Amino acid sequence: MVVDKKYKIATLASHSALQILKGAQQEGFETVAVCIKGREQPYKQFKVADKIISIKDFDEFEGIQEQLIKENAIIIPHASFIAYMGFERIEKLKVPYFGNKKILHWESDRSMERKWLKAAGLKLPKIFEKPEDIDRPVIIKFHGAGGGKGYFLAKNYKDFKKKIKLHAGKGYVIQEYILGVHMYAHYFHSPLTGETELMGFDKRYESNVDSLGRISARDQMALPQEQVDPSYVIVGNMPLVVRESYLPRFIRKGENVVKESKKIASPGLFGPFCLETIMTPEEDIITFEISARIVAGTNPYVNGSPYSWLRYNEPMSTGRRIAREIKLAIEKNNIDKVLS
Ligand code: AMP
Ligand code: AMP
Repeated sequence: MVVDKKYKIATLASHSALQILKGAQQEGFETVAVCIKGREQPYKQFKVADKIISIKDFDEFEGIQEQLIKENAIIIPHASFIAYMGFERIEKLKVPYFGNKKILHWESDRSMERKWLKAAGLKLPKIFEKPEDIDRPVIIKFHGAGGGKGYFLAKNYKDFKKKIKLHAGKGYVIQEYILGVHMYAHYFHSPLTGETELMGFDKRYESNVDSLGRISARDQMALPQEQVDPSYVIVGNMPLVVRESYLPRFIRKGENVVKESKKIASPGLFGPFCLETIMTPEEDIITFEISARIVAGTNPYVNGSPYSWLRYNEPMSTGRRIAREIKLAIEKNNIDKVLS
């Protein structure tokens, strides 16, 4: 099928841009990578960018907007784009944007996000409004997508008081610490077909928490406290296939989140999203976060995941699925349905 050549796919060169641009090319689009000067090499070497626009820093993004509009580019958001730009700036952008911008607000405010997920019937970790009420292990998370930097654990109020001193002035939330295995479920909701597709799962590789198990408790005790305090700095993602009997529950969760999103931010959540969950030994699935856009956990699946292979019988990454949706929308004369 020949795509309307007028549209190009653009994204900020980081996070999942390789996959997004590759997928766009596979669907017949020309691609534009907006790069921070000095970071162009991967996009050149892997030949995913038909054009590279270099900017000095993220403050310059608005300055190249007219150029992107002239190119007829559709911008695909991801976590780095949102982290660097902030949702207030993104809301004001005029360049066509894949996804529903109204959702960003719900995702970036932890209490709004919680309301949304609760209404969708998901189980969430308990939140402690007052530190004095801490009665179990908790994780203290700072606001904003910082990639888990600085998060810390506390076992009681006294412990919290001691550790929070190092983070004066920062906004935080105190969440029950859930002990279990982490499963990040990737979805794609199509506004054209109305279906919520399960695209895959990943688990994260976080420093230093994923290395603590490599040394015995005895050796941990011998090390300085700062070195063994867990931190959650994300450095990569690993593919995961879950027990097949869990799939009905995961699919239902994705569908319910989409259904609820239509009530809070019409026309609702569409495109890729991710539920960040922990499975307890009792097989409860606790959702601690939603990412309302492509997650980097889909990067191991540039050639498709086991799940997208089952469904599509051709390599279908999340990046390619985005481009496929845009292509279908163009063909059906329905492009407004996927942009905002
Ligand atoms: P970067 O473009 O790699 O500097 O990342 C900017 C921000 O995007 C990070 O601080 C994270 O919040 C988020 N991010 C980047 N890569 C990942 C990843 N693999 N998983 C989750 N979040 C990520
Ligand atoms: P987040 O910024 O919410 O994506 O969290 C970053 C990391 O902190 C996650 O990937 C987990 O390793 C950890 N984490 C966050 N919330 C919890 C929780 N309630 N219980 C256990 N670990 C958590």
